[in-house]
Amino acid sequence: MKIISQVLNYFIPEICPYCQENFTENGLFCAECLVKLPAPGQNICKSCGGDLDLILDICSKCMKEKPAPWSDAICLFMMNSNVQHLVEQYKYNNKIEFLSQMADSASHKIQDSKIHFDCVTAIPLHFMKHLYRGYNQSALLAKRIAIVTGIGYKNLLVRRKFTKTQTRLSGEERHKNLKGAFFSKNKAFIEKKDILLVDDVFTTGSTLRSASEALLSSGANSVTILVLARR
Ligand SMILES: [Zn+2]
Ligand SMILES: [Zn+2]
Repeated sequence: MKIISQVLNYFIPEICPYCQENFTENGLFCAECLVKLPAPGQNICKSCGGDLDLILDICSKCMKEKPAPWSDAICLFMMNSNVQHLVEQYKYNNKIEFLSQMADSASHKIQDSKIHFDCVTAIPLHFMKHLYRGYNQSALLAKRIAIVTGIGYKNLLVRRKFTKTQTRLSGEERHKNLKGAFFSKNKAFIEKKDILLVDDVFTTGSTLRSASEALLSSGANSVTILVLARR
């Protein structure tokens, strides 16, 4: 089926899911939208995957945070109002058509990074939130990435507390709110593994920090984060 759909895509170009007007370039967004939805360039921050604005290997935003527990970061887009709109559509309106675009873009970046991964996992939602929303977008993306790249998907984290909405909290309050918010399951599997951890938007990194710490304290060899954008 996959081969058939790939052949069909080659002959019948798809409509760009962002503007719904032009045809896509190589199955991603159209050329016009690729300009509106910029990706980080060659020199990226080791902590968030965004463009570097300093001569160091960490950007000025990440310089203000505690050192990250993960070893590398992959970021798909540089944040702007178009990317913000894309993320909202994808996150809250369950825009499935964006998923394959994002997974394709993620798989290119994973290949370019030359980092070895044993498995891909996602930041879980609290089960009440999951029930309310009906899906976890990060898990859907992680599973899609697993299909495209051949890296296995594994559910490794559980959200312990029903954390308060983070939006109105300061950086320090966010860290406190999320400390110990995750625990890992499947410890026997986690040990010595290089794990790719998927989340949506990197704001202060508190969620990613708490989840990475859970994986590393269970014996993971390394954690690399993959996010849609850095705020
Ligand atoms: Zn377009
Ligand atoms: Zn950074």
